[in-house]
Amino acid sequence: MTTKWLSPSPISRLHVLGARGLDLLFPPVCAGCGRAGYALCPLCAQEVEPVGEPICAHCGRRQARAVKRCPLCASEDEPPLDLVRAATLHRWPLREAIHALKYEGRTELAQPLARYLLATLAIPPWPAILPRIDAVIPAPLHARRRAERGYNQATLLARPLCRWMGLPLHTDWLQRTQMTRPQVGLNAHERRANVADAFRASPAVCGKTLLLIDDVYTTGATMTACAAAAKAAGARLVYGLALAQPASRN
Ligand SMILES: [Zn+2]
Ligand SMILES: [Zn+2]
Repeated sequence: MTTKWLSPSPISRLHVLGARGLDLLFPPVCAGCGRAGYALCPLCAQEVEPVGEPICAHCGRRQARAVKRCPLCASEDEPPLDLVRAATLHRWPLREAIHALKYEGRTELAQPLARYLLATLAIPPWPAILPRIDAVIPAPLHARRRAERGYNQATLLARPLCRWMGLPLHTDWLQRTQMTRPQVGLNAHERRANVADAFRASPAVCGKTLLLIDDVYTTGATMTACAAAAKAAGARLVYGLALAQPASRN
């Protein structure tokens, strides 16, 4: 199933040409198909697949049938995340675009990819939630990791989203205080244990309703740990929005 999205390509193209004159000489190539002149070409942009139904109403993961709480959510008495959704499925060409954004310095992809977050926020339950959001917080990288990469991809995704939505962005309200081993290859329980105490929230979150932004939501370990740190510092409600979730049902 392919749903029509807001096409990001003309905007991304203007953005890229405006931001870096060198791109006139060395135009960007599409992260999905390699076509010159686009960060993500119109054809690939239309191939990006929304998560769609049926899902778990709490964590937004795809399910065989619609459920209020999937088994993973039901295993927690008081999940620190109040509600989570992912915008798209983590498969070509979105998967390649996220990889290029994170690991190949293709920061010009952030704005076209953020359009999928924007489109998702137009779908219930978000219109009822958004007026209550006090701050948008990107899932933080450890300072050392951020220095190596030169940027936090979650911040690059959150920034245009906040501009379009008129929401305040706070990149310093949550910090990653521990470097943890990569989550790849760990199961859900191991992932949660790995990042459980890796984050610390500013007292500024006390009493606030927050929207966390991240690139990929797999078992939710990172975002759950972020939300737990925010709740420990007094945050009232914590919502999560990720760009992508794994394509397979779980
Ligand atoms: Zn393409
Ligand atoms: Zn769930």
